[in-house]
Amino acid sequence: NASSVSLADAAYVKISEGDFGYVLDDVPHLVDHLPDAPTYPNPLQDHPAYSTVKQYFVNEDDTVPQKVVVQKNSRRGVHFRRAGPRQKVYFESDEVKACIVTCGGLCPGLNTVIRELVCGLAHMYNVSKIYGIQNGYKGFYSSNYLTLTPKSVDDIHKRGGTVLGTSRGGHDTKKIVDNIQDRGINQVYIIGGDGTQKGAYEIFKEIRKRGLKVSVAGIPKTIDNDIAIIDKSFGFDTAVEEAQRAIDSAHVEACSAENGIGLVKLMGRYSGFIAMYATLASRDVDCCLIPESPFYMDGEGGLLQYVERRLKENKHMVIVVAEGAGQDLIAKSLSTSEQQDASGNKLLLDIGLWLTHKIKDHFKSKKMEMTIKYIDPTYMIRAIPSNASDNVYCTLLAHSAIHGAMAGYSFTVGNVNGRHAYIPFYRVTSTRNKVKITDRMWARLLSSTNQPSFLSQKDIDEAKENDRTANKPPLPTGLSHHVAN
Ligand code: ATP
Ligand code: MG
Repeated sequence: NASSVSLADAAYVKISEGDFGYVLDDVPHLVDHLPDAPTYPNPLQDHPAYSTVKQYFVNEDDTVPQKVVVQKNSRRGVHFRRAGPRQKVYFESDEVKACIVTCGGLCPGLNTVIRELVCGLAHMYNVSKIYGIQNGYKGFYSSNYLTLTPKSVDDIHKRGGTVLGTSRGGHDTKKIVDNIQDRGINQVYIIGGDGTQKGAYEIFKEIRKRGLKVSVAGIPKTIDNDIAIIDKSFGFDTAVEEAQRAIDSAHVEACSAENGIGLVKLMGRYSGFIAMYATLASRDVDCCLIPESPFYMDGEGGLLQYVERRLKENKHMVIVVAEGAGQDLIAKSLSTSEQQDASGNKLLLDIGLWLTHKIKDHFKSKKMEMTIKYIDPTYMIRAIPSNASDNVYCTLLAHSAIHGAMAGYSFTVGNVNGRHAYIPFYRVTSTRNKVKITDRMWARLLSSTNQPSFLSQKDIDEAKENDRTANKPPLPTGLSHHVAN
């Protein structure tokens, strides 16, 4: 009987047996809230904008399922806490001291999230002590904190980048938490990608270890859309839209030359979502290459043969390549050793440049006239402000983050099947969201571009096996001190 099992007690508890029996998520994610129960009435109860909303407050036990389509006899899978305002809050408005930090690479929408966190805290919960941490994690212990007010952030959403500054590296958990403790901060809003959310989890664990009454709210930022669990990350829509301009230019260049090739490199270190969606949106792309789908250059069915065929058929061609695609091919041909950035991320070799040379060499050896123009719009795309739909999404993410932090939760916020949910940190950091080449969307792309799949039967079998094993939910680590109350 579902109602008799409180979510906090449910550790992979089967709620009901039978065809549609389902399993709730494990305990730690559901108890990532501060030890005592929230006691203060939510000030939104008196807010004129919300007084007319029927059922404005979210029921404490409401969850959002990760799976929507459930096959007969299979489990419903994992549920997450539904995001939204609670009847009771953990912090009184005037005791809240919030801070906001942005880390990792740029992404459209960062300033919108900052703006909406500040305005949401101030306008919904009457919070007046809000600080900006400068230049990423290291700013916690090496820079002055900025004072943020609705007035000071009023028009920042119209600008690209982040007004707080950002950086890689410099995550020193102890020093960060020392500063949070010394300054009496009790809500920490952390905007950043996979590395940043791992850092947020470390901060969260250290805060729990010290028994501090601090909520940690992660807002996942990744232009690549590679964060697990969530439907889509903010900035992704804007990136796909802006990528169209680069593809259009490549197409113009390609059409204006004899045997013209336009090559566009798009973001996507491990996941080819931007390349895939930009290709599907454009219709001018003849070939899309992503990290998830291996390809090869030479011989029967290889990329060079396909390029040659397309040029013979159409006299021009557009190729879109995700930055992480074909890294194995370059590494093999250049025999370089791996390098890393300040955060420990693998530095990628430039697939666009490498492909350009390979294609040029191939046609030179065939004595076939051709022109190739290589466009890398990465930093132009990352630097623009977010579009309308991302602006709305950023606003909702910021509001959900505020409601959760006010209720005393620590989590990463995100849309799961169209509903905002609070997700435990370890779940979004332990896996990466990738394009499934065994899925319909990639098949749609292949039929839209009419490109070969470049896959061998072995590649396909491997991809299917990966899908099968990827479904196992990860377990949290290092949380033994943090048990359900
Ligand atoms: P993106 O890759 O989308 O640009 P990101 O958040 O992954 O964003 P990183 O540069 O990898 O960007 O990490 C951002 C911050 O998180 C850095 O300050 C880095 O030190 C910290 N960080 C990364 N990985 C970890 C980790 N495993 N534990 C603690 N901190 C981490
Ligand atoms: Mg990253």
